[in-house]
Parts: sequence; structure tokens; C-alpha cells
Amino acid sequence: MNDSSILTALDQLKKEVNSNISIVAVSKTKPESAVLEAYNVGHLDFGENKVQEVVRKNESLPKDIRWHFIGHLQRNKVKNIAPFVHLIHSVDSLKLLKEIDKRAASNSRQINCLLQISIAEEESKFGLSPELLHQLLDSEDYSNLQNIKVIGLMGMATNTKDEGTIRAEFSMLKNIFDATKKDHFLDSDSFNTLSMGMTSDFKLAIDEGSNMIRVGSLIFGERNKP
Ligand SMILES: *Cc1c(COP(=O)(O)O)cnc(C)c1O
Repeated sequence: MNDSSILTALDQLKKEVNSNISIVAVSKTKPESAVLEAYNVGHLDFGENKVQEVVRKNESLPKDIRWHFIGHLQRNKVKNIAPFVHLIHSVDSLKLLKEIDKRAASNSRQINCLLQISIAEEESKFGLSPELLHQLLDSEDYSNLQNIKVIGLMGMATNTKDEGTIRAEFSMLKNIFDATKKDHFLDSDSFNTLSMGMTSDFKLAIDEGSNMIRVGSLIFGERNKP
């Protein structure tokens, strides 16, 4: 028995979702102590959206934590996370992918990436359109990258209470995922990750085919507004 609300929420969530769904515990804005609580019961996957914050947490926390970068990533900051990042969910351009490849090479490693697709109806700032996605994967520049591996897609639904809209957007992303696998990764088992769903919509996302959810406030509590 424990009386930690973090552990209770995490435990509850793990019971609620099938074990083949990866749970990224989004610890942005939360202290190292909150990450450690979950780590100490065996949770290893944590999500952050600010370079400075994930670098700081990586320095002081156990080295077997798998840091997922889920926020918008500027090219000039890739070098700071390249030595340790586990998966970058938010790759939205070939230029960024090339920079990640370069920094992965200089760290003698491979960095796994997801391509972020814009699916929300609201004019979304970040993410590739399906057209640009296919253009990127067909490009010669992409085929020359040796130190990155694209292992799937990520998307965020519109922030709305309308379940129909959310479901349709997740369903669309699942279709894009399946088509991308068929058109570009048929020989590769490694294109296998569909990151969609957060606290408010992870159940709908899983219904529509997600196998990686990024859950913050449900586990760690509400965040203070910036
Ligand atoms: C903050 C964030 C999440 C988690 O949001 P919650 O609503 O707290 O679960 C998921 N994905 C991204 C990209 C985020 O920035």
C-alpha cells in the first residue's frame, strides 16, 4: 500500500490500458521528485517538451530513464538532447530530421524518431501534412540518413469536447499510419509506433489504434498555467 497520488494514478492507468500500449508519463513542469516516485516503482518512460528542462532532469535522474521529447524542437537545440534522448515524437520537417541525424552521428548513436502529423481541424502550428510526409519519405535526402530511424507517427487531436471530431482525427491518423507503412516501410518491422492520446482523449485514441499514449496531468496532477 502507498498513499502517493502519483502511484495510485499510474497504477490505475496501467490496469485500464492493455499492456501492449506504451505509457509515456509526461512530467513537464513537475519536479524530479515526481519522476523518481514513478521510476522507483519501475516506470521508465517519461515525456518532456522543453530542451532545458529535459537536459536538467536527465543530469540528475537515473540513467536508465527513457526520455521522450514531445514538444516543438528547434534545430539549434537538437545537440543538447542528442546524447541521451530515447525517442523524439515531434519531428515535423526534413531539415530537423537531417540535424538530428547529424547530431546522432556525432554521438555515435542512432536516434529513433516519430514524424508529427497535423490532424487537428484548428490551424495547427506544427506537424506535416500527409502530402509533405510522403514527399519527405520519398526524398533522396531522407534515404541518405544513416543515424536516425523513423519508427512511427505522432499526432494531437483538436482540443474539443466533441468526441466525434476527436475520433475522426485519430482514425484519420491511423489510416495515414497504415498507408505509410504499406508505401514506405513494408519490409521493416520497426515502423510500429503510433503515438496519439493524452489525458483527455487517450481512451478514444486507443480505440482508434494508438499504441503509445502521452499522459501528464492524469498521473502527476494539473499543471500550473505558464
Ligand atoms: C503536455 C503534453 C501531453 C500531456 O498532456 P496531459 O493533458 O497533461 O495528459 C501530451 N502530449 C504533448 C505533445 C504535450 O505537450
